[in-house]
Amino acid sequence: MKQILNYINGELILPVKRKLMDNENPATGEIYSVCPDSTEEDIQLAVDSAKDAFPKWSELSVESRTKYLWNIADSLEKQIHELAEAETRDTGKPINLSKTVDIPRAAANFRFFAGAALNFSSESHQTGKTIFNYTLRQPLGLVGCISPWNLPIYLFTWKIAPALAVGNCVIGKPSELTPMTAFLLSKICMESGLPAGVLNIVHGRGDKVGSALVNHSDVSAISFTGGTETGRSIAKSVAGKFKKVSLEMGGKNPAIVYPDCNYKKTLSSLLKSSFTNQGQICLCSSRLLIHKSIYDKFKSDFINKVKKLSVGDPLKIESNMGALISEDHLNKVLSYIESAKEDGGKILIGGNPLKLDGRCSNGWFISPTIIDGLKNDCRVNQEEIFGPVVTLIPFSSEEEAIGIANDSQYGLSATIWTQDIEKAHRAAERLDAGIIWINCWLVRDLRTPFGGTKSSGVGREGGSEALQFFTEPKNVCVKIN
Ligand code: NAD
Repeated sequence: MKQILNYINGELILPVKRKLMDNENPATGEIYSVCPDSTEEDIQLAVDSAKDAFPKWSELSVESRTKYLWNIADSLEKQIHELAEAETRDTGKPINLSKTVDIPRAAANFRFFAGAALNFSSESHQTGKTIFNYTLRQPLGLVGCISPWNLPIYLFTWKIAPALAVGNCVIGKPSELTPMTAFLLSKICMESGLPAGVLNIVHGRGDKVGSALVNHSDVSAISFTGGTETGRSIAKSVAGKFKKVSLEMGGKNPAIVYPDCNYKKTLSSLLKSSFTNQGQICLCSSRLLIHKSIYDKFKSDFINKVKKLSVGDPLKIESNMGALISEDHLNKVLSYIESAKEDGGKILIGGNPLKLDGRCSNGWFISPTIIDGLKNDCRVNQEEIFGPVVTLIPFSSEEEAIGIANDSQYGLSATIWTQDIEKAHRAAERLDAGIIWINCWLVRDLRTPFGGTKSSGVGREGGSEALQFFTEPKNVCVKIN
């Protein structure tokens, strides 16, 4: 049984109360490690150690901090095979995805934000001939970074790298469902010589340690990625304390497919945008809006493509899809499929849990599912399912497509598929979402603002947005004579 430990003050330690909880491999149902079930005492230890480390870390030159982050990136790259295997065991995601997306991106996050901090500049304003303003961008102090289970090390490092790069000390809280790669990252930080207390990682449940972190008076800011209801409760908790908060939450992302799209490429891209990571990516397309003139053809071609996806042992390179994160989550996804049936939806393919043979016979698998015949106002089209379930919705005009796409509490991302660039730009302007992709999906340039509108998010991550979030601007006004 592997033992995951908290990383506090540069050391790997058990939680104060010594309570541990089981950690399951979703593809086998096997409990293969134990993880700290930490409490607010552990958060206090992490806060104390971060407070001790902060003055020195924030006073280091940005070049010195950058070197540490680059060393961590190098180690992540060197250990890609071990880390990818650990991520796949912890999440049930296909190994190919862990190797080509999750781990390379974690390394890229450290490398990118180290470079971004080197290039980070602040404003200055001249007022008349004798007055000059310049803006200092100072670290906030201690910040809390809370991340979800779907892209564990990818999203954890997306937060902690910019926070560290600009001189903050961090208390990180990874998801209790997927603690393993954050634990391995703490070992890498120790090997890389990161000074004690600069980064602390406390494992445990959200309602215990997550909320203790959010409510701690010495923590100046919270960067959170996760579900909308959790985000709402964090927003309420911090409101009275006037903490800075960045919330990246759920989505119900539309894809608008026009008849003049590049049909073959669109079909293949939608397969990926619908089912990558078993549909457990906040940016996955879940409502496919298809123009009436190509609806029937698209439906049958899409079903044929989905039939070829192989759901299987995530450690096998040939598996396109692995397991869902837990039995609870599988049941949640299945309950949405039942709700679709009650609302008159037709299951075109999938809709069932899958029993695999051998090693994975007790895992949480489901076949990729396509549903049509549902109105946009039903639960399945309004609530985030976060699984491999998409609906097809026909539309006949641009106006109608934009109306359906925007008829949602969410506003994270949207994709537009057409070769008419004017039409695409018009739609991009009118869609209520923070991220629009035209003729592509999940193409990420780390310099761009990342985040959602409405119930999908508050604030933006990425590039200078992240560096601004993790710093406090202070204007200094100088009068000469
Ligand atoms: P979740 O909200 O259940 O948990 C996210 C994190 O918050 C976990 O670390 C959890 O322990 C912690 N947490 C839970 N309750 C807390 C509390 N009261 N106080 C502080 N922390 C608490 O979300 P999840 O199920 O882990 O992740 C899936 C959700 O994340 C989906 O809704 C998905 O859309 C969203 N997500 C959004 C983005 C984005 O960038 N917008 C990216 C990935 C995932």
